Amino acid sequence: MNLKIGVIKGDGIGPEIVTEAMKVLDKTAEVYGHTCSYEQLLMGGASIDVHGIPLTDETIQRAKSCDAVLMGSIGGDAKTSPWYKLEPSKRPEAGLLKIRKELNLFANLRPAVLYEELKGACPLKEEITEGGFDMMIMRELTGGLYFGERKTVEENGVLTAMDSLCYNENEIRRIAKRGFDIAMKRRKKVTSVDKANVLDSSRLWRKVVEQAAEEYPEVTLEHMLVDNCAMQLVKDPKQFDVILTENMFGDILSDEASMVTGSIGMLASASLNETKFGLYEPSGGSAPDIAGKGIANPIATILSAAMMLRFSFDLDKEAEAIEEAVSRVLKEGCRTIDIMSEGKTQIGTAQMGDLITGYIGKH
Ligand code: NAD
Repeated sequence: MNLKIGVIKGDGIGPEIVTEAMKVLDKTAEVYGHTCSYEQLLMGGASIDVHGIPLTDETIQRAKSCDAVLMGSIGGDAKTSPWYKLEPSKRPEAGLLKIRKELNLFANLRPAVLYEELKGACPLKEEITEGGFDMMIMRELTGGLYFGERKTVEENGVLTAMDSLCYNENEIRRIAKRGFDIAMKRRKKVTSVDKANVLDSSRLWRKVVEQAAEEYPEVTLEHMLVDNCAMQLVKDPKQFDVILTENMFGDILSDEASMVTGSIGMLASASLNETKFGLYEPSGGSAPDIAGKGIANPIATILSAAMMLRFSFDLDKEAEAIEEAVSRVLKEGCRTIDIMSEGKTQIGTAQMGDLITGYIGKH
């Protein structure tokens, strides 16, 4: 298979961490008989430097012509970078919002995995995390409270602000189906999170999710209220496989879930649309404080590349090979600075990429 991948290296540590992910992808392709062709795309500060704006229409078209896009991170230090002297619509982050909108990326996936080897970084008690955990938060990204009608009015000298949380059944159905598809590739359990005891939008959410579940008889569906879910994430995170939820609940729960895993340098993410197309990127930012030092952790980007193989190309075996290689390097005791602990060996970005690459295809 030829994989046509758009690559946005971006700013700060972006080029360093994406280079390592490409190394791992190339080796995986070689071992499993595929080829990767890369389309280099400029976005964020790197695009401002060349074109004066963070994302050009031509770049969007070129991204659309790819099967998937792998991205580093964009942005710089807001205090010192000249990019932040520009008006907000021309700053690096505007490119990010625009590409998500243009590509209609409505489903955000954030895995929260606690590796046995990194459990020291987890703030939860050992008896809770014994054996690690592995869940996927699936968040609706283009509807709900953040996109609903809002207004602030003053009546009789009293200010009142209002935001509306609105979903139609089609928006719910498409994310629910995506959630069940993802569960089919995992442990076949979906926990749909809502506030159906109070909100109409949640009652519709629950009804449509139940309808969608009928097409996936192998998947176990359960419903959980969002307040309970927030507690269960720290009480018993092992119970979760796929957590499916609306925009604001997902925003909060995905941050909670990722914090219980430890370092930001380990957190992959994907944003998907209705086709197989997806944008894959680490959850962290461009880390200007460590850019160019060769010490950034490339694992989140490498795991994002594994997600790309699984969800955009259906190459599950290849994705597993990458995930296994990451586990083996961690087991060996090699760590970048952000996940370093006593008695382990500290290595740099490129060395981490090389070690993971070296394990691809080795049993
Ligand atoms: P950040 O995630 O870049 O950094 C926070 C801390 O985490 C820093 O100490 C950094 O060194 C560390 N860190 C992040 N990724 C790491 C990695 N892979 N390895 C080791 N350490 C890592 O967040 P910030 O400092 O708030 O933002 C910096 C810039 O990134 C800003 O311009 C912001 O707008 C941008 N940003 C971009 C994205 C994106 O591209 N999707 C996301 C968040 C922030």
